Amino acid sequence: PPQRFGFLNRTRQLFSRMSTTVEETDLITDTLWDDLEESLLAADVGPRTVIWLIERLRERADAEQMRTGAQVQRALREELVDLLGDSSPLHLSQRSPLTVMLVIGVNGSGKTTSIAKMAARLSHEGHKVMLAAADTFRAAAIDQLKVWGERISVPVISQQPNADPGAVVYDAIQAAQARGSDVLIVDTAGRLQTKYNLMEELKKINKIIQRFVPDGPHELLIVIDAPTGQNALLQARKFAEDIGLTGVIITKMDSTAKGGFAFAVTDDLGVPIKFIGTGEKVEDLIPFDPQSFVAALFA
Ligand code: GDP
Repeated sequence: PPQRFGFLNRTRQLFSRMSTTVEETDLITDTLWDDLEESLLAADVGPRTVIWLIERLRERADAEQMRTGAQVQRALREELVDLLGDSSPLHLSQRSPLTVMLVIGVNGSGKTTSIAKMAARLSHEGHKVMLAAADTFRAAAIDQLKVWGERISVPVISQQPNADPGAVVYDAIQAAQARGSDVLIVDTAGRLQTKYNLMEELKKINKIIQRFVPDGPHELLIVIDAPTGQNALLQARKFAEDIGLTGVIITKMDSTAKGGFAFAVTDDLGVPIKFIGTGEKVEDLIPFDPQSFVAALFA
């Protein structure tokens, strides 16, 4: 497997054990389906997605008159790639001089780090990036974004803790436009609890953005860490539909054997994975490509 997929080593072990069992099967029996189901669950593909996958494969096995485990294995790879959809690069506005991206995610998920990684990547590609510290609930969150901003030489617009996130976004858009920035990444809510009204906050922010950047915001991304897995998904799913998510960043793929989580994420949330975080360093972020991801799992 390519070097950059080293983070999948532990998940790959699960998949290769499964591959060996399945490929060595000359007859398609219930045991084969049970083994497959167990392996996919162990890799954290998620119960709902696993049930769907097995059903789909059984149908195909019948319809295509499959006879061997190897045929099932090939079909599984195809289905896994299909589940993930096409690769989905960040959407940059073709109409407005400024692209605005909002990022949400619970504290500790790796939101700030991911924002910094994205900003560094975009800067490296020649964009003039600015960050806005609109997750104003925790002073530490603001400070941390500033530290990252200095480290990667990207300006950060911030206000005092507990300032109105909308006011921060307003300031940031003014500053971005005055300084000729072309990408503004907004560090938004770090709390996704239902009690606190994230929807209201996002609506207010959207209104402000649309006053100055009519086709924005161009991305609304959620950061989810793989080790929290299915639990994080439950929370994300609750409002994924309501707020019009455009993509997911899965972090900490390096610290878990649960690479299968990627399939549960796209299946459950119905939005593409944009990036995968594979470490704590600024370069540890890879654009998500379904084909090579699945290929790496079976390598
Ligand atoms: P936030 O509270 O959501 O903004 O989370 P942070 O960005 O502060 O990240 C929380 C912790 O997770 C920090 O120690 C990060 O270095 C670490 N972290 C973030 N992304 C990754 C990743 O992809 N892999 C690993 N191993 N650690 C990560």
